[in-house]
Amino acid sequence: STKDNGSSTTTSSNSSNSSSSNKSTDTTKKVKIGFSLPTMREERYQKDKAAFEEEAKKLGAEVLTQGANNDENLQNSQVENLITQGIDVLVLDPQNAESAATLVDKAHQAGIKVISYDRLILNSDPDVYISFDNEKVGELQGEYLTKLVPKGNYFVFAGAPTDNNATLFKQGAMKYIQPLADKGDIKIVFDQAIKDWDPNEALKLAENALTANKNKVDAILAPNDGTAGGIIQALAEQKLDGKVPVTGQDAELAAAKRIIAGTQSMTIFKDVRVLAKNAADIAVQLAQGKEVKDLAQVNKTVNNKKIDVPSLLLTPVVITKDNIDKELVDSGWFKKSDLYGN
Ligand code: BGC
Repeated sequence: STKDNGSSTTTSSNSSNSSSSNKSTDTTKKVKIGFSLPTMREERYQKDKAAFEEEAKKLGAEVLTQGANNDENLQNSQVENLITQGIDVLVLDPQNAESAATLVDKAHQAGIKVISYDRLILNSDPDVYISFDNEKVGELQGEYLTKLVPKGNYFVFAGAPTDNNATLFKQGAMKYIQPLADKGDIKIVFDQAIKDWDPNEALKLAENALTANKNKVDAILAPNDGTAGGIIQALAEQKLDGKVPVTGQDAELAAAKRIIAGTQSMTIFKDVRVLAKNAADIAVQLAQGKEVKDLAQVNKTVNNKKIDVPSLLLTPVVITKDNIDKELVDSGWFKKSDLYGN
């Protein structure tokens, strides 16, 4: 018998299966998922990919994963290609929050559901958004830094302006920093976004900011571990590493080692293994015709300037010297020997 190819017409000869006849309820067909990531540069994306593919495999689905090298044009062509290859669901972590709306439209025109993964796609109608509470990520960074350094000169770095997460991280952090700046206790002497989250760009900006301020800095808001690495390198060139608190995010191995060494103050742990597992589960359910409203994990909405997108937001965790073993070793994120050598 022929497999239903998704067209809506059925012929009278196709009567071998009366209980399940349309694409949306056919759970026997192998589900094909397109997983499009903006980059593979940050260590986390290897974990996103591994966990996503592992879960999909468990569920009998096939995954086509692509990394776009921080290039939105490349991501566009990769996604168009995935659509041509007949994916059932698109899991899209956008390089550019705004222009990715076109990709959502193209997928929808081909009857493909779209999950906005980790980063929100703006001004568009993705079917589901799966991420962390990103404003909370920023709040945790800002709260940590202002508690440690309630007064003094601040460098405020933000992530890529094309990434809605970067906006949310900064918003969250400024909830803590801005009131103290308004009071005059904190002086923000540098305030800039880092194109494409590029660690080398962060290094250069930090070098220039140190020069411009004659090394007078008391605290640095760094949006993630990659950029924190560049900033801490600039501090080290001035023998200031370990003397100026720096935040981070992602729980990268290099950052965890810096926390142990005392040159980075904290990071934010987002367990992307859990994120990816949920995304793969939901992708398969959507491919099998489950309605978004019936997805158990999807329990809130987030507005993307066009619609309230049904969402699942996971909880980020602050990591410092004090809980690094408990959170990152006990959870299997790192081996103890990764962190401390053998
Ligand atoms: C992610 C971070 C990541 C950054 C750079 C953000 O959207 O949430 O985990 O470090 O992009 O890739």
